[in-house]
Amino acid sequence: MDNFGLNTDFSNEDEKKQYYLRFIKQLSDWYSNGKTPELAIEDIRFSLELQKQKLQSLGLDMQLQIQKQEGKSNDSAPLSYADNVFVNSICAKNKRITTSIRNSQKELYSRTADCMMTVIMQNLKQGCVPTPDTAMCCPHCGAPSTLGRLESGCEFCNTKFLMDELYPRIMYFFINDLGDADFDQKKLKNHIVH
Ligand SMILES: [Zn+2]
Repeated sequence: MDNFGLNTDFSNEDEKKQYYLRFIKQLSDWYSNGKTPELAIEDIRFSLELQKQKLQSLGLDMQLQIQKQEGKSNDSAPLSYADNVFVNSICAKNKRITTSIRNSQKELYSRTADCMMTVIMQNLKQGCVPTPDTAMCCPHCGAPSTLGRLESGCEFCNTKFLMDELYPRIMYFFINDLGDADFDQKKLKNHIVH
């Protein structure tokens, strides 16, 4: 159903869910072992790197553990917006996120909160091929390039990409903190005891 390009998209829902979960795993990996999140566009990778460098300059390390929220339904259909070539989908799910910050000696901060984790995913519209001059950074070395050049081989690292390997891409993500999960658990425990 198209309504000014905006629609609730029930097609490829499982596939989007798989990519969403894969990105969450990649983001967790980034915070635990520094592995680059492959689905993320260069802008996200750059901002994660800047965050890491800033923390390192202060002698700090941050970890982010993203887990499923127990007992909550995680199903919601992605909302999508399409133009002539691309479909951008907004996928959001409830997650329990533990953020901890430590220096070389000890943990300085730790908080577990129930959050809404939202990811904007870009896919190709079915049957559409973007023009070869569409700007895109090389997913391997980060060099500014175009789709056409990446398909024939990045001029800097020589890696060749198939269109399937370049999409979907995670364009943006954000986390809304919905409250302190530990606090709720403590309240619940007290409630049971008394
Ligand atoms: Zn490259």
